[in-house]
Amino acid sequence: MNPLSLTYDQLVEQFQRRYGRGAFHAGALYRAFYDRPVFDLRQAPEFSRSPELAQRIARDLDMRLPEVSGRIQEEDVTKLQFRLADGLTVETVLIPMAHHTTVCVSCQVGCRMGCRFCQTGQMGLLRQLSVDEIVAQVFVVKVHIGLDVRNVVFMGMGEPLDNFDAVVQAIAVLSDQRGLNIAKRHITLSTAGWVPGIERLAALNWPQLKLAVSLNAADDALRSNLMPVNRRYGLGTLRAVLEGYPLARGNVLLVEYVLIRDVNDRPEDARRLARFVTELPVRVNLIAYNPRKASPFDAPWPEEVERFRRALVDLGVFVRLRGAKGTSIRAACGQLGGASGGPVGS
Ligand code: SF4
Repeated sequence: MNPLSLTYDQLVEQFQRRYGRGAFHAGALYRAFYDRPVFDLRQAPEFSRSPELAQRIARDLDMRLPEVSGRIQEEDVTKLQFRLADGLTVETVLIPMAHHTTVCVSCQVGCRMGCRFCQTGQMGLLRQLSVDEIVAQVFVVKVHIGLDVRNVVFMGMGEPLDNFDAVVQAIAVLSDQRGLNIAKRHITLSTAGWVPGIERLAALNWPQLKLAVSLNAADDALRSNLMPVNRRYGLGTLRAVLEGYPLARGNVLLVEYVLIRDVNDRPEDARRLARFVTELPVRVNLIAYNPRKASPFDAPWPEEVERFRRALVDLGVFVRLRGAKGTSIRAACGQLGGASGGPVGS
């Protein structure tokens, strides 16, 4: 039993099933776990009359956390490398905002989507992360390191919708008010356009959650070349599923567009992108490409990025230029994996 893989209600259910006890004792465990990095259940007042139960629960608990095995700091961005129980590693990025920290989490070791511009995509998929391995990345930063984490983005290693059940359960745990308390409106899930996953997510009806689609090209030939997922789920299919996606008032779909020099930065690319997003509740995030190791692609010059942004604005697109913080430590979007040795033990 690992508290990091359960919501409060699920923990209460487990307590009832295993020990015949309910919210009083489960709540004590949940509070102790999230309030203190190290705790002894036997010290909790709720267990003062039942030390054997505290001991039994302690035996059943799996409290192992992935170990922070590397840390790279560049200006204010930090990349943490976590070593998992089997020796593989994943990377988590801490991005400081004005008054808090955003944590960019990984959900797979590697990724099988194979996007050509992405470092992680070159690794292939080594394995899925479990719920607790995903949640632990935020838990360590918030509870152990003590940073004020208010936003979580699933933009690290892996395609979140290709690890659907674990990612959805991780979001439920992260957003539990009695635990890490990161509201769904502060959680962004970024997908390369895995359509069956978007459909399943839509069926959950979590309209506060932020959904980001990494688009990067709005014509099928170019997108299929950059992102093999497009050969299976082309732009027409993707757009149709986005049209029906449930969003709360004020929430918009985020369309991520990584601008690559001489690849997707022409005036006709801007026009196609504008056509794709027409009548969708969308904000386009424009990001200058940050070349991965041995990348066949180049970063655009700042004036080329500005020209593209201006073209989109003139076409009536709601666009925001997103800085690629952490560029030189390869902590920007699509840059995780292999920067400091990649997975070990594989
Ligand atoms: S960009 Fe995302 S989906 Fe594409 S290969 Fe990289 S991690 Fe996977």
